[in-house]
Amino acid sequence: MIVGVVRESFPGERRVALVPSAVPLLAKAGLEILVETGAGWLAGYPDQAFAEKGAKIAPDRAAVFASADIVVQVLAYGSNDKTGRADIPLFRRDQVIIGFFRPLGAKQTVEEIASSGAISFSVELMPRTTRAQSMDALSSMATICGYKAVLIAANTLPRLFPMLTTAAGTITPARVLVIGVGVAGLQAIATAKRLGAVTSGYDLRPAVKEQVQSLGARFVELDIEAKDAQDAGGYAKAQDETFYARQRELLGRVIAENDVVITTAVVPGKKAPILVTKEMVQGMAPGSVIVDLAAERGGNCELTRAEEDTVVNGVTIVGGINLASTVPYHASQMYARNLAAFLTLLAKGGKLNLNMQDDIIRETLLTRGGELVNARVREFWSLPALAART
Ligand code: NAD
Repeated sequence: MIVGVVRESFPGERRVALVPSAVPLLAKAGLEILVETGAGWLAGYPDQAFAEKGAKIAPDRAAVFASADIVVQVLAYGSNDKTGRADIPLFRRDQVIIGFFRPLGAKQTVEEIASSGAISFSVELMPRTTRAQSMDALSSMATICGYKAVLIAANTLPRLFPMLTTAAGTITPARVLVIGVGVAGLQAIATAKRLGAVTSGYDLRPAVKEQVQSLGARFVELDIEAKDAQDAGGYAKAQDETFYARQRELLGRVIAENDVVITTAVVPGKKAPILVTKEMVQGMAPGSVIVDLAAERGGNCELTRAEEDTVVNGVTIVGGINLASTVPYHASQMYARNLAAFLTLLAKGGKLNLNMQDDIIRETLLTRGGELVNARVREFWSLPALAART
C-alpha cells in the first residue's frame, strides 16, 4: 500500500503530515511512502531526508492523489477552510484520507467530503483512551500551542517573567493566569513556571486542581460549581448562561491581579465561552497581555479578533490562530508519530483493516461509500442514525 504525503496548502501552514523518521516505521508495517516534492521543506525536512529513509518523491500534488491508497494531511478540507476544497476533485472513491477535518465545524463541508466517496478519518475524533493515547494528535498540537502561547506573552509583555535580584534593584516576577487547564493549559503553566513567573490556573473541571498544583502553580478556586463538569472523554460540558455570568463576575477580580492571562477554554462543537469581558480588560494594568488560544473558536475574550493583535487601554489581546504551525519541526514530528501509530493499526501488514469493532477505527471514521458514517458527528448534525456496519 502506498501512503501519500501532500504539501499543506492552508496559507502560512508550515507543518507536514509525516517526517523522514516515520518512513522506516511504516515500511515495517508494509507501507510505502510517496511524498510531494517540497512537502516537508518549511518544517525543516527536505526531500532528500525523506528519500534517504526510503520514501519516493512525487512531482506534484495530483500525482500523490493519483497513486496513493492512503493520503495523509495535517489540515484537510474542513479545518482548511481556505484552500482545502480544491482537493475534493482529487479524492478517489475508496481512497483513504486522514487529517484534521473539523467534522463539527460545518455540515455542508462534511457532506461534500462524504460525496467524494473517500474513506476519511478525522483525527480530532480519536477516543481519549489509554490505547489511543499515542495517536492523539489534538493533544500533541495542544502541547505545542500551550508552550508557544507563553513565549508570545513573554515577548509581548513589557516586563520580565522571572524575579531577579540585581545591583540595580529587585525585579518582581510576572503573574500569569491560565484559564482552561486541559493539555494546552497544563503546558502553558509548565512553560510559564520554567520562565520564572508566578503562575496560577483555573478550570471548571475540579479534577484539574491536583494537576495544576503538581506543577507548582496555584489553583484558583471560585465560589461556583459546574454541574456535571466533564463528559466520559474528559472534555468540559457546556454550562448555562447563569453559570457563565457568575463565573465572569468572580474571574474579574482574579484577572485584574495578573500581568498575563492565557485562555484555552473550549467545549467541543460549541463556540468558546466568553470569560474575559471588555470591562475586565479595562481593569487590567496597561502593558498586560491576553493570549487567547480559543481565538479560532470565537475567543474567550470579548475583544479578541482572530488572526490579529488588538490593543485596548494598553492591554494587548493576541488572537493568533494555528500556533502549532509556528513550531513546525516538532509539531510535524509529533503529528507524524501519532499518524504512524494510527496507520500501523489501520493498515496492518499492508492491508486496510476497517474493523468496526475497534473503537479507534469506528470513532475516527468520518465518511465511507459516499455517506457520513460517524455516529457522533451524525448526532451532532441531527442526522438519523445509520444501521451498524461491520
Ligand atoms: P479542551 O481543549 O477541550 O478544553 C480546554 C480546557 O478548557 C479544558 O480543561 C476544559 O475543562 C476547559 N474549560 C471549558 N470551559 C471552561 C470554562 N467555562 N471555564 C474554565 N475552563 C473551561 O480540553 P483538552 O485539552 O482537549 O483536554 C480535556 C481533558 O481531557 C483533560 O483533562 C485531559 O487531560 C484529558 N485528556 C485525556 C486523554 C487520554 O486519556 N488519552 C488525552 C487527551 C486529553
